[in-house]
Amino acid sequence: MLEASGITVRYGALEAVRNVSFRVDAGEIVALIGSNGAGKSTTLKAVMGMLPMVQGSLRWLGQPIERKGAFQRVGMGLSLSPEGRRLFPRMTVLDNLLMGAHCVRHRAARRRSLEQVFALFPRVAERRHQLAGSLSGGEQQMVAIGRAMMSEPKVLLLDEPSLGLAPKIVAEIAEAVQRINREEKRSVILVEQNARLALRLAHRAYVMEQGQITRSGSGAQLLADPAVQSAYLGV
Ligand code: ATP
Repeated sequence: MLEASGITVRYGALEAVRNVSFRVDAGEIVALIGSNGAGKSTTLKAVMGMLPMVQGSLRWLGQPIERKGAFQRVGMGLSLSPEGRRLFPRMTVLDNLLMGAHCVRHRAARRRSLEQVFALFPRVAERRHQLAGSLSGGEQQMVAIGRAMMSEPKVLLLDEPSLGLAPKIVAEIAEAVQRINREEKRSVILVEQNARLALRLAHRAYVMEQGQITRSGSGAQLLADPAVQSAYLGV
Protein backbone atom coordinates (compact mmCIF):
# COMPACT_ATOMS: atom_id res chain seq x y z
CA MET A 1 0.00 0.00 0.00
CA LEU A 2 2.65 2.49 1.16
CA GLU A 3 6.27 1.88 0.33
CA ALA A 4 9.25 4.05 1.31
CA SER A 5 12.57 3.25 -0.34
CA GLY A 6 15.85 4.76 0.76
CA ILE A 7 14.38 7.98 2.12
CA THR A 8 16.71 10.59 3.60
CA VAL A 9 15.58 13.74 5.41
CA ARG A 10 17.83 16.56 6.61
CA TYR A 11 17.45 19.47 8.99
CA GLY A 12 20.19 21.71 7.59
CA ALA A 13 23.40 19.72 7.97
CA LEU A 14 21.80 17.13 10.29
CA GLU A 15 20.76 13.93 8.55
CA ALA A 16 17.85 12.93 10.81
CA VAL A 17 16.67 10.04 8.60
CA ARG A 18 19.15 8.16 6.43
CA ASN A 19 18.31 5.70 3.67
CA VAL A 20 15.21 4.37 5.38
CA SER A 21 12.99 1.77 3.67
CA PHE A 22 9.76 0.28 4.93
CA ARG A 23 6.34 -0.74 3.76
CA VAL A 24 2.81 -0.89 5.07
CA ASP A 25 0.34 -3.36 3.59
CA ALA A 26 -3.44 -3.26 3.70
CA GLY A 27 -4.82 -4.32 7.06
CA GLU A 28 -1.52 -4.02 8.93
CA ILE A 29 -0.46 -2.28 12.10
CA VAL A 30 3.21 -1.44 11.59
CA ALA A 31 5.19 -0.13 14.55
CA LEU A 32 8.24 2.10 14.40
CA ILE A 33 10.11 1.95 17.68
CA GLY A 34 13.32 3.57 18.87
CA SER A 35 14.68 5.93 21.46
CA ASN A 36 14.40 9.71 21.64
CA GLY A 37 15.72 11.43 18.55
CA ALA A 38 15.98 8.24 16.48
CA GLY A 39 14.11 9.87 13.60
CA LYS A 40 10.64 8.36 13.98
CA SER A 41 8.63 11.61 13.93
CA THR A 42 10.76 12.91 11.07
CA THR A 43 9.91 9.78 9.08
CA LEU A 44 6.17 10.30 9.63
CA LYS A 45 6.41 13.95 8.63
CA ALA A 46 8.22 13.00 5.42
CA VAL A 47 5.51 10.44 4.62
CA MET A 48 2.88 13.16 5.09
CA GLY A 49 4.77 15.62 2.88
CA MET A 50 5.37 18.00 5.79
CA LEU A 51 9.14 17.72 5.33
CA PRO A 52 11.00 17.36 2.04
CA MET A 53 13.02 14.23 1.32
CA VAL A 54 16.47 14.79 -0.13
CA GLN A 55 16.64 11.23 -1.42
CA GLY A 56 14.50 8.18 -1.88
CA SER A 57 11.06 7.36 -3.14
CA LEU A 58 7.62 7.07 -1.66
CA ARG A 59 4.93 5.01 -3.37
CA TRP A 60 1.24 4.92 -2.61
CA LEU A 61 -0.67 2.06 -4.26
CA GLY A 62 2.28 1.71 -6.63
CA GLN A 63 2.35 5.38 -7.71
CA PRO A 64 5.11 7.85 -6.77
CA ILE A 65 3.87 10.57 -4.42
CA GLU A 66 7.07 12.47 -3.57
CA ARG A 67 5.78 15.52 -5.44
CA LYS A 68 2.36 15.57 -3.82
CA GLY A 69 1.71 18.11 -1.07
CA ALA A 70 0.44 17.27 2.39
CA PHE A 71 -3.14 18.29 1.53
CA GLN A 72 -3.19 15.96 -1.46
CA ARG A 73 -1.77 13.10 0.60
CA VAL A 74 -4.58 13.51 3.12
CA GLY A 75 -7.06 13.37 0.24
CA MET A 76 -5.40 10.14 -0.98
CA GLY A 77 -5.83 8.43 2.37
CA LEU A 78 -2.90 9.30 4.64
CA SER A 79 -3.55 11.07 7.94
CA LEU A 80 -1.34 11.95 10.91
CA SER A 81 -2.13 12.33 14.60
CA PRO A 82 0.97 14.30 15.63
CA GLU A 83 3.14 13.97 18.70
CA GLY A 84 1.89 16.29 21.45
CA ARG A 85 -1.67 16.20 19.98
CA ARG A 86 -1.53 19.78 18.60
CA LEU A 87 -5.19 20.54 19.29
CA PHE A 88 -6.63 24.03 19.15
CA PRO A 89 -7.27 24.46 22.91
CA ARG A 90 -9.66 27.41 22.61
CA MET A 91 -11.87 25.70 20.07
CA THR A 92 -14.49 23.11 20.97
CA VAL A 93 -13.84 19.40 20.62
CA LEU A 94 -16.32 19.31 17.72
CA ASP A 95 -14.57 22.12 15.84
CA ASN A 96 -11.22 20.41 16.40
CA LEU A 97 -12.63 17.22 14.91
CA LEU A 98 -14.09 19.09 11.93
CA MET A 99 -10.65 20.57 11.21
CA GLY A 100 -9.63 17.04 10.30
CA ALA A 101 -12.36 16.87 7.68
CA HIS A 102 -11.34 19.95 5.71
CA CYS A 103 -10.65 17.85 2.62
CA VAL A 104 -13.98 16.00 2.88
CA ARG A 105 -16.43 17.80 0.60
CA HIS A 106 -19.73 16.15 1.42
CA ARG A 107 -21.60 16.91 4.59
CA ALA A 108 -22.97 13.35 4.78
CA ALA A 109 -19.42 11.95 4.71
CA ARG A 110 -18.34 14.33 7.48
CA ARG A 111 -21.31 13.26 9.58
CA ARG A 112 -20.48 9.57 9.01
CA SER A 113 -16.85 10.14 10.09
CA LEU A 114 -18.01 12.01 13.15
CA GLU A 115 -20.31 9.17 14.13
CA GLN A 116 -17.44 6.69 13.73
CA VAL A 117 -15.23 8.80 15.99
CA PHE A 118 -17.98 9.12 18.59
CA ALA A 119 -18.58 5.34 18.50
CA LEU A 120 -14.86 4.77 19.00
CA PHE A 121 -14.53 7.32 21.79
CA PRO A 122 -17.87 7.83 23.62
CA ARG A 123 -16.13 10.18 26.04
CA VAL A 124 -15.26 12.50 23.16
CA ALA A 125 -18.93 12.49 22.12
CA GLU A 126 -19.99 13.48 25.63
CA ARG A 127 -17.56 16.38 25.64
CA ARG A 128 -17.98 17.61 22.11
CA HIS A 129 -19.17 21.09 23.11
CA GLN A 130 -16.35 21.63 25.64
CA LEU A 131 -13.19 23.56 24.80
CA ALA A 132 -10.48 21.08 23.81
CA GLY A 133 -8.03 22.70 26.26
CA SER A 134 -10.28 21.81 29.19
CA LEU A 135 -10.04 18.04 28.56
CA SER A 136 -7.70 15.63 30.36
CA GLY A 137 -4.55 14.51 28.56
CA GLY A 138 -6.10 11.16 27.67
CA GLU A 139 -9.26 12.75 26.30
CA GLN A 140 -7.18 15.20 24.26
CA GLN A 141 -5.27 12.26 22.79
CA MET A 142 -8.58 10.67 21.79
CA VAL A 143 -9.61 13.92 20.09
CA ALA A 144 -6.27 14.05 18.25
CA ILE A 145 -6.74 10.51 16.96
CA GLY A 146 -10.38 11.29 16.16
CA ARG A 147 -9.38 14.38 14.19
CA ALA A 148 -6.99 12.27 12.10
CA MET A 149 -9.81 9.77 11.51
CA MET A 150 -12.12 12.46 10.14
CA SER A 151 -10.55 12.28 6.68
CA GLU A 152 -11.30 8.52 6.60
CA PRO A 153 -7.65 7.53 6.11
CA LYS A 154 -6.60 4.22 4.62
CA VAL A 155 -3.35 4.53 6.58
CA LEU A 156 -3.47 6.28 9.95
CA LEU A 157 -0.12 7.57 11.26
CA LEU A 158 0.01 7.81 15.06
CA ASP A 159 2.93 9.62 16.67
CA GLU A 160 3.39 8.66 20.34
CA PRO A 161 -0.29 8.21 21.25
CA SER A 162 0.54 6.83 24.71
CA LEU A 163 3.00 9.55 25.74
CA GLY A 164 2.44 10.82 29.27
CA LEU A 165 -0.82 8.94 29.85
CA ALA A 166 -1.89 6.78 32.79
CA PRO A 167 -1.87 2.98 32.21
CA LYS A 168 -5.67 2.74 32.15
CA ILE A 169 -5.92 5.37 29.42
CA VAL A 170 -3.05 3.78 27.50
CA ALA A 171 -5.06 0.53 27.49
CA GLU A 172 -8.12 2.38 26.13
CA ILE A 173 -6.08 3.99 23.38
CA ALA A 174 -4.52 0.61 22.51
CA GLU A 175 -7.96 -0.94 22.23
CA ALA A 176 -9.12 1.91 20.00
CA VAL A 177 -6.10 1.39 17.72
CA GLN A 178 -7.01 -2.29 17.38
CA ARG A 179 -10.63 -1.45 16.61
CA ILE A 180 -9.60 1.11 13.99
CA ASN A 181 -7.51 -1.61 12.39
CA ARG A 182 -9.87 -4.59 12.71
CA GLU A 183 -13.34 -3.11 12.48
CA GLU A 184 -12.69 -0.16 10.21
CA LYS A 185 -10.02 -2.02 8.21
CA ARG A 186 -7.50 0.81 8.29
CA SER A 187 -3.75 0.28 8.29
CA VAL A 188 -1.82 2.01 11.06
CA ILE A 189 1.77 3.21 11.43
CA LEU A 190 2.37 3.39 15.14
CA VAL A 191 5.34 5.38 16.42
CA GLU A 192 5.96 4.66 20.08
CA GLN A 193 8.61 4.91 22.74
CA ASN A 194 6.54 2.37 24.67
CA ALA A 195 8.10 -0.46 22.68
CA ARG A 196 6.35 -3.27 24.54
CA LEU A 197 2.93 -1.81 23.80
CA ALA A 198 3.78 -1.11 20.16
CA LEU A 199 5.21 -4.59 19.53
CA ARG A 200 2.18 -6.24 21.12
CA LEU A 201 -0.18 -4.31 18.88
CA ALA A 202 1.84 -4.53 15.67
CA HIS A 203 1.73 -7.17 12.97
CA ARG A 204 5.19 -6.02 11.88
CA ALA A 205 7.68 -3.55 13.28
CA TYR A 206 10.89 -1.69 12.53
CA VAL A 207 13.54 -0.53 14.99
CA MET A 208 15.08 2.88 14.29
CA GLU A 209 18.44 3.98 15.67
CA GLN A 210 20.20 7.22 14.78
CA GLY A 211 18.15 7.81 11.67
CA GLN A 212 18.39 4.28 10.29
CA ILE A 213 16.34 1.11 10.43
CA THR A 214 18.44 -1.51 12.16
CA ARG A 215 15.96 -4.37 12.68
CA SER A 216 12.59 -5.51 11.43
CA GLY A 217 10.26 -8.45 11.91
CA SER A 218 6.90 -9.43 13.27
CA GLY A 219 5.89 -7.85 16.58
CA ALA A 220 6.29 -11.26 18.23
CA GLN A 221 9.76 -11.81 16.73
CA LEU A 222 11.03 -8.45 17.97
CA LEU A 223 9.48 -8.97 21.42
CA ALA A 224 11.54 -12.18 21.64
CA ASP A 225 14.75 -10.63 20.22
CA PRO A 226 17.36 -10.35 23.02
CA ALA A 227 18.88 -7.16 21.52
CA VAL A 228 15.44 -5.50 21.43
CA GLN A 229 14.67 -6.77 24.92
CA SER A 230 17.80 -5.29 26.45
CA ALA A 231 17.65 -1.98 24.55
CA TYR A 232 13.91 -1.25 24.64
CA LEU A 233 12.03 -3.64 26.91
CA GLY A 234 14.06 -3.40 30.10
CA VAL A 235 14.57 -7.18 30.21
P1 ATP B 1 11.13 11.75 19.73
O1 ATP B 1 10.35 10.62 20.19
O2 ATP B 1 11.97 12.38 20.77
O3 ATP B 1 10.34 12.75 18.91
P2 ATP B 1 12.06 10.74 17.20
O4 ATP B 1 12.60 9.36 17.00
O5 ATP B 1 10.70 11.00 16.74
O6 ATP B 1 12.21 11.11 18.73
P3 ATP B 1 12.82 12.99 15.61
O7 ATP B 1 11.91 13.92 16.33
O8 ATP B 1 12.44 12.53 14.26
O9 ATP B 1 13.08 11.71 16.52
O10 ATP B 1 14.27 13.65 15.57
C1 ATP B 1 15.36 13.09 14.84
C2 ATP B 1 16.54 14.03 14.92
O11 ATP B 1 16.23 15.24 14.24
C3 ATP B 1 16.93 14.43 16.34
O12 ATP B 1 18.34 14.53 16.39
C4 ATP B 1 16.28 15.78 16.51
O13 ATP B 1 16.99 16.57 17.43
C5 ATP B 1 16.36 16.35 15.11
N1 ATP B 1 15.26 17.30 14.82
C6 ATP B 1 13.94 17.02 14.93
N2 ATP B 1 13.20 18.10 14.56
C7 ATP B 1 14.08 19.05 14.19
C8 ATP B 1 13.93 20.39 13.69
N3 ATP B 1 12.73 20.94 13.47
N4 ATP B 1 15.07 21.09 13.44
C9 ATP B 1 16.29 20.54 13.62
N5 ATP B 1 16.49 19.28 14.08
C10 ATP B 1 15.41 18.54 14.36
